Amino acid sequence: MAHPERIVIVGAGHASAQLCESLRKGGFEGSITLVGEEKWLPYQRPPLSKAYLLGDFERERLFVKPQAFYDEARIDLRLGLRAEAIDRAERRLHLSDGTDLPYDALALLTGARVRPLDCAGAGLGGVHYVRGIDDIDALMPAVAVARRAVVIGGGYIGLEAAAVLRKRGLAVTVLHRSPRLLSRVASAPTAQFIEDLHREEGVDIRLGTTIRAIEGAGRVERIEIERLDVDPVAANIREEMPVDLVVAGVGVVPNQSLAIEAGLPTEDGIAVDATCRTADPAIFAAGDVAWHPHGRWGDIRLESVQNALDQAKTCAAAMLGEAAPYAAVPWFWSDQYDVKLQSAGLPQGYDRAVWRPGEKPRAGSCWLYAQGRLACVEAMNDPRAYMTGKRWIEADLTPDPKAIADPGTPLKAVAVG
Ligand code: NAP
Repeated sequence: MAHPERIVIVGAGHASAQLCESLRKGGFEGSITLVGEEKWLPYQRPPLSKAYLLGDFERERLFVKPQAFYDEARIDLRLGLRAEAIDRAERRLHLSDGTDLPYDALALLTGARVRPLDCAGAGLGGVHYVRGIDDIDALMPAVAVARRAVVIGGGYIGLEAAAVLRKRGLAVTVLHRSPRLLSRVASAPTAQFIEDLHREEGVDIRLGTTIRAIEGAGRVERIEIERLDVDPVAANIREEMPVDLVVAGVGVVPNQSLAIEAGLPTEDGIAVDATCRTADPAIFAAGDVAWHPHGRWGDIRLESVQNALDQAKTCAAAMLGEAAPYAAVPWFWSDQYDVKLQSAGLPQGYDRAVWRPGEKPRAGSCWLYAQGRLACVEAMNDPRAYMTGKRWIEADLTPDPKAIADPGTPLKAVAVG
């Protein structure tokens, strides 16, 4: 593709702000138009389920860049508009206000949306999700008056929300479908550490359990729970629980309908190569929506700030004709009560988990090996373990598991090979 003169970006999240910055830093002088469905400038989501929900984080601090950045970088912001369709032959993007935008290069940074609950009563008042600023602005006043909450889903969203609700003094029950928490995103030992933490903080954790129905006159008054590890008919298990607030964190789905309707290949996300290119040389995708080859971890879609930022940089370079394949080691973090969890690498496909006790209470790290190679470190209140493990994974070095398990052996004395 010849160097583009007109770049159009769809989606207004972390990746979009980064792409604007990287394009200008890379010397791109042409036009950049950013289309966002929400009315907000690109904002950070991580504080939403933590300090912002708690009321400890001002809205202005959520924005990735201030308005002045977009003005100075000459970004044409089209906020509050939906991208409706891509005309690939004409290279035009149709918007919900009836206008269309011509492009030489189009970036689909469309992110992901919450998976809605599908049980009876899911549309009642008092049922909330945790994804955008508007969701939290609606949830905060509900938290202020609620007394008994149920959180559906024990992933990061559900657990971070549960921690905030406990801090706000609510009685909290978490229903999680799998037999252990964080089933998609953390190892079994780390999930157990987090389960113990929430139980200590007074959360009623129900594993292998989901919601069957939400009931009430106009708004939630009680829920019906289903145990998945017991035959509900044979055992006649049917538990009702009075609640006045439901918070759902049951995962997200990639926003890929624009790409599908434009005939671009998709999997669980828009399929791109290691430089964020789709099958159409003028169309790119990055961030939560991108199904990409990741040398070490195979074809994958990652839902994280790190991936959004790093892929946006790769995408900018590819648009400017100079991209190296994307291969950053994934990292995440989560804050729950006084515990900071930090992980590097991915907990998929490990065959050995080694626990290293931490020096302080509520601290420790879990080291995951796959076929004799360090694949992931998950550190709770142990930034040194996180930083050291991340460096080793990046350098493809593997520490001796026996020394890792011994808290008396400092990390700097652990043999790596
Ligand atoms: P998630 O990691 O997919 O966790 C949702 C969990 O809910 C799954 O483990 C799932 O169980 C369970 N679940 C699904 N349907 C259920 C049902 N009907 N009843 C009970 N449990 C059910 O997603 P999430 O926690 O909602 O997070 C959404 C997004 O926010 C992700 O992109 C996540 O990475 C991001 N996020 C990241 C962080 C962080 O990195 N610190 C923090 C917050 C949010 P199964 O395992 O059985 O499917």
